[in-house]
Amino acid sequence: MHTLNADLHSHSTASDGTLSAVALAARAKANGVELWALTDHDELSGLPAARAAATAAGLPFVDGIEVSVTFANSTVHIVGLGIDPSNDELVAGIANVRAGRELRARQMGDGLALVGIHGAYEGAIALAPNPNLVSRTHFGRFLIARGVAPDMHAVFRRYLTEGKPGYVEHRWAKLGEAVRWIRAAGGVAVIAHPGRYKFTPTEEYALFSEFQAHGGEAVEVVTGSHHAGDVAKYTEMAIEFGMLASRGSDFHDPEESRLDLGLVPGQLALSPRLTPVWSRWPQAELRSESVAS
Ligand code: AMP
Ligand code: MN
Ligand code: MN
Ligand code: MN
Repeated sequence: MHTLNADLHSHSTASDGTLSAVALAARAKANGVELWALTDHDELSGLPAARAAATAAGLPFVDGIEVSVTFANSTVHIVGLGIDPSNDELVAGIANVRAGRELRARQMGDGLALVGIHGAYEGAIALAPNPNLVSRTHFGRFLIARGVAPDMHAVFRRYLTEGKPGYVEHRWAKLGEAVRWIRAAGGVAVIAHPGRYKFTPTEEYALFSEFQAHGGEAVEVVTGSHHAGDVAKYTEMAIEFGMLASRGSDFHDPEESRLDLGLVPGQLALSPRLTPVWSRWPQAELRSESVAS
């Protein structure tokens, strides 16, 4: 159970990934993934194609999302797993979150123009297959293509993070809203990549305890941006808080992402001391669900 190759965090062209849901399903299957979730940012439109392709490949599939949240004046991502993509409350909630992206993208373009980089808004839009979901990643790809930075890491550090020319303050969903929408849709809420946030220990404790108070149940322990120290730390926090543990690559693109779907070649397993989030969905149920739909 703990060694199941579950990849419960990935992105398609419906948000800021570069592969289609169909290509992702094939790649997950080829990499030996045994349970896959697509979790696009604030967007559900990739899920039907992902489920169909996973089903055709005999790959158990879970519908997912990654909701953008503002907590303690910082951006936090909450993954929802096992959601019903047709749930009205979830659909309406994330539509609101997405709506803010257009103005933000224009303002990012304005900020970059002030340092002499013109046409970034148009450039980012041109690289975004889903016009409703323009993200910093699309700006990053545009800026790399322009030659102003060599790679994603550098482009975020120089242009797209707090205090830099392309960064725009933005209010996303509230923590309680994101958890409520996910639960309304029958899903499990998961704190995504906690090792990436720059919180003080007090703020981090508040994130975990408020998340739980809102009905959040799980934490991503093994993920593409976590190093060994993060995995050890969040293993202990999951146990301390009595939370379920999740595992996912956060795959976006074959070149950009540190780890591939299925986390290969890392193959990091969750500690046997943890209860995996997939204990919620018995394998037999996932298989019949996949076959039936
Ligand atoms: P947004 O939702 O538009 O703020 O974009 C957030 C996305 O940018 C994340 O989901 C990542 O894909 C990407 N991202 C954020 N920080 C970095 C970073 N330091 N390096 C590379 N990609 C990043
Ligand atoms: Mn992303
Ligand atoms: Mn994220
Ligand atoms: Mn992600």
